[in-house]
Formats: sequence, C-alpha cells, structure tokens
Amino acid sequence: MRFLLLLLPSLVAAQNYDVVLRGGRVMDPESGLDAVRNVGIRGKKIASISSNQLRGKVEIDASGLVVAPGFIDLHQHSQTPEAYRYKAMDGVTTALELEAGVSPVSEWYAAREGKAPINFGASSGHIPARMAVMHDSGTLLPRDAAMNRVATPAEQKLIEAAVAKGLDEGGLGMGMGITYTPTAGADEILSLFYLAAKFKRPVFVHMRAGDVVTSMQEVITDAAAAGVPLHIVHMNSAATAKTPQALRMLEGVRARGLDVTTEAYPYTASMTEIASAAYSGWEDRPPEDYAKLLWPPTGERLTRESFERYRKQGGFVAQFGNTEEMIRMALAHPFVMVASDGIIENGIGHPRAVGTYARVLGKYVREDKALSLMDAIRKSSLMPAQRLEAMSPQMRQKGRLKVGADADIGIFDPGLVIDKVTFQNAAQYSQGFRYVLVEGTFVVREGRLQEGAAPGEGIRAR
Ligand SMILES: [Zn+2]
Repeated sequence: MRFLLLLLPSLVAAQNYDVVLRGGRVMDPESGLDAVRNVGIRGKKIASISSNQLRGKVEIDASGLVVAPGFIDLHQHSQTPEAYRYKAMDGVTTALELEAGVSPVSEWYAAREGKAPINFGASSGHIPARMAVMHDSGTLLPRDAAMNRVATPAEQKLIEAAVAKGLDEGGLGMGMGITYTPTAGADEILSLFYLAAKFKRPVFVHMRAGDVVTSMQEVITDAAAAGVPLHIVHMNSAATAKTPQALRMLEGVRARGLDVTTEAYPYTASMTEIASAAYSGWEDRPPEDYAKLLWPPTGERLTRESFERYRKQGGFVAQFGNTEEMIRMALAHPFVMVASDGIIENGIGHPRAVGTYARVLGKYVREDKALSLMDAIRKSSLMPAQRLEAMSPQMRQKGRLKVGADADIGIFDPGLVIDKVTFQNAAQYSQGFRYVLVEGTFVVREGRLQEGAAPGEGIRAR
C-alpha cells in the first residue's frame, strides 16, 4: 500500500500533458524569454514552460528549432480552405480580414465555424456594405456603382446601418478602403469614424489614393476628431518612396498620444483588382508604367493594349512600385507590424498571401539582418494581438508564449525558414515550419499539413 502511494505521483506525472515540445528555443516577445525550455500543453492551453523534464502523451523533439507564438495576420483577404492551408504552412495561426472587412458579419463567421484549421475573423466592412446598398457588380472591391457614384443620403443611411449591424454582431472594428470608394467624400468617411467611435472599435483603413501625407492627414484627423484607434494598412505600398515621411508622421502622432498603428508586407510589388478605382486614370500612361504591372495567370508584363483588355476582364494585377530599401525601413521600424494583405485563389495570387512570415524570418532577419528574430516575432504575434485585445478578450491569450495562454504555436527552423513562392507560381508553401499548433491541435506536423484538422475559432469583438 505504502509502495503504491509512493509510486502514484510519478505515474500521474508520467503523462501530465497532452503535448510536450522538448528542448526548443522558446521565444516570448512579451516577457523577453529566449532560452531552451520544455513546453507542456494541456487541452487548448500552455500549461508549463520549464527547464525540467516534462512528460506528455505526445512528445516532440524541438531541439534546434524556435518555438514562438503563432502568427496573427491582421490583413488576409482570402478566407478559404485553400488560403488557410498556405497560412498554416507560413506559421499563421490567426488570419483576419480587417481592411476590406465583410458584410453581413454573422453569416460570414457561421460559414467558417468548426471548419477552419486556423483562427479567423473579420471587421465590419464599409466596402461590402456600400457595394450591397449601391448594387455594385464587383466581388471583393467595387468596380462600378460604389466606385463611380456618390451615395445618396438615403443610401448613406443604409450603408451606416449595415456597418453598425456588423459591429453589433462582433465585427473586429470597421474596415475601410477609401481608395476603392473615391466617391465617398470626406463627410461620408468622417461620419463612419463617428459610428466606429459609438462602438469603441478601431478603424482599419486603406487610405485615399494620392500623396501619402495628404491621405494620412485625412484619416488621422478623423480618428482624432472621433476618438477612435486607427490602423493604417500596408504602409509599404501606401508610402513607397515617402516611407520616411510617413513613419515620421506616425511617430509624431503617437508621441502626442493618439492610438495609431500600421503594418507592412515584405515584397516590393503590390497587388489589387485591375478593374478597381486604383487604376482609374491609367488609360494614358507611358509604356514604362504598364511594364511595372505583372499579370499573375500568365506572368506577362503589361502593355497599354493588354492593360485595357485585362481591365475590362477584371482580376488581380501585381505592380512593382517599391524598393528594397523602403521595405527594409518599414519592417525594421519599431511601430510597424507584419501583415500579409493576402489574396490567393486556385493557386493564383500575390506571393505575400503564401510567404510573408517565412520571408520576414528568412530574408529580413537571417540574410539581411534588418531586424532581430525577437523583433520579427513580436511584430508578427504580440503587436497584432495587442492591437485587438481592447475589443476582443480572446486576443489577450494569443500572441504570447506563457503559461495560461492559448496553445497557438509555430515551431520553425531558423536556419531554413524562407518563402518559396514566386509571382509566376504562387502555389508553393513556405519552407521551415516543422510544427504549427492551433489551440493545442497540430495543423502542421513534421512539415506537413494535417488534413481535416479544424481547431480554428472565430475571433470576435465583445
Ligand atoms: Zn489595401
């Protein structure tokens, strides 16, 4: 009897955890922990981080690998089973559509509940609301009525009602792409900022086209007037050669106490709908401007003739408009988060949808030494979680590797991690992520996707 009692605690301890990650380099951007540790996972949570040996039903040898919080992508347009596979293989455990947003919101969440390998969520979108109310024929972005026409006062009321309904249903803030709705004047935009303020939710915005200083002045003033947090999407492609000026404005605004954040993706080319307002006024450009455009389905560079043809047809076009120097500056800046702006459909899309996080770790950290590994992890996990946590308590348990946090974890080889994707062939998984767990469940194991795993949960505002 005495013998049994002595034995019992060690028997219990023998398989105390569901999963143990043994001997990895554990990096937590919140506490600054960067040391070899064992991580014990019980159910959906991190239950132990220890130098002592831990025992689990499943044990993974993580020696030589980095164990980091799963990445949180604030800007992922494609929210399909196909897109989630690429995200998981790029270390992303939460992918959110916050720029364009969605409408209606409840139906969007319901369609993904219980089916997604990674966590998902969306803002309440001004663009889709405006497109529905004004009967635009576009899909992701407006291509006729919502882009060409000023909304009547009655339509504006309906647009605001749709956005408010989406916020009421838990939409993660308000999404806006002013450049795609150029006929939404300063009044319509400001009025929407006041609406977001009523719900105490942030605004995620692709700014108005034109000079970045002027564009920033509009949204910063609106955010200050309404008293809402502001997140400016893809500062890299918004500012290009004016990245230093844009970052300086951001520093100043934050020093004055305004809650303004931003993000960048690690590619010199942007991508958007060729039929959208982003290409209004492109009918009469010099040949070298068209040559900056690449048509992903064929890989061809455009001419005036092919530009006009594809603009009538519609589809996503890549535009080479930035420099490595500006990308490095944006990514290395302490205020700038990493986000992908990912679009991919049937294997065709921008490399950023597929390789953003591996590229930051492989190219900008390992090869170019533009930022430290810990900073890259912080920009990809903790900072996006903090951006959302005031409205979404779920995010307080993500973006950190600590006891009690959700077991959303990426485990990668820091010497191998890199994007493999090209503009001609987007359908290529990133290299280097050995294991990815979402809420304690493997979605990537020994470098391979786990078919059928669907631990992803909807992330909502409360
Ligand atoms: Zn955008």
